[in-house]
Amino acid sequence: EDAAHHGSVFVISDSDIGEDRTWKLHFFSELEKAIRNRDIKVAFQPKISLRTGKIVGAEALVRWTHPLRGPIEPSEIVAYAEEHNRIEMITRFVLDNALHEACRAIEVEPGFAVAVNISALDLRDPGFASDVAMMLAKHSFPAGQLVLEITETAPIENDRVAGEILAELKRLGVRLSVDDFGTGHASLHYLRQIPSDEVKIDRSFVANMAHSQEDRTLVKTAIDMIHSLRRYAVAEGVEDDAVARMLTELGCDAAQGFYFSRAVGMDRLLEQLEAKSRAA
Ligand code: C2E
Ligand code: MG
Ligand code: MG
Ligand code: MG
Repeated sequence: EDAAHHGSVFVISDSDIGEDRTWKLHFFSELEKAIRNRDIKVAFQPKISLRTGKIVGAEALVRWTHPLRGPIEPSEIVAYAEEHNRIEMITRFVLDNALHEACRAIEVEPGFAVAVNISALDLRDPGFASDVAMMLAKHSFPAGQLVLEITETAPIENDRVAGEILAELKRLGVRLSVDDFGTGHASLHYLRQIPSDEVKIDRSFVANMAHSQEDRTLVKTAIDMIHSLRRYAVAEGVEDDAVARMLTELGCDAAQGFYFSRAVGMDRLLEQLEAKSRAA
């Protein structure tokens, strides 16, 4: 009732489908409102060097707690935003916030790199690279310490605009990362098309390594291939010490996962960074 008075779209409905349709219909205004009201935030999941055990950077992940619906899954946010052609708003918000917060981390750890997920749809916007350049300038952020993780959701291979944008980003000095490598979209063909500096092995292969000889072989093969292409190998989804040790033995460069840390606010990440630099 109260919601209706405030023009909210969340009419109490006896049908989940009806509610879901309304939510989708008003996604754009909800998104704008959420950004205005700071219901959308960015959390940071550390990336750990497996050689030194140090935090070398962090991945920015969008977090949205809706006042009525509660927390919304990031994959749902991204899917809706893409569907409604609003992914640019998310990307811009996360990039701005991530660079702002990462400046604090650089003061503690000068080499700290921040990673931001971008959508393949961002690579259809011819102005994307210059937007990134402006954002870097706004925060006086070193381009070489920004990593853009590309999760493929739309085909970009053989796409000339996307290819030019990626080349422009490389000229700026930004680092590119292929996310979720090994899953449906991130094929070998895709790997060849993207001038990436880093490849992240999908957590579906990593999580079960300690129990599956087959997954272990796949991860080893992926690491070797990534290294043959002279790229940095990162494993995602490390949940226990056995997997962390195996990855270290296989020569994987860096890792992320709940075993090391979940995505946290920058204040927490700074505490972790300071604790690690004291320990070193
Ligand atoms: P991703 O980029 O592959 O991010 C990794 C996801 O795995 C994150 O989920 C993270 O919380 C989760 N994760 C990390 N370590 C572990 C682990 O040890 N075990 C398990 N089970 N999960 C782990 P999250 O935050 O829900 O994000 C899901 C996906 O949504 C991301 O996958 C990314 O594709 C997308 N996403 C998130 N934030 C953004 C954003 O700001 N922009 C765009 N375009 N996409 C985003
Ligand atoms: Mg990612
Ligand atoms: Mg990933
Ligand atoms: Mg993944």
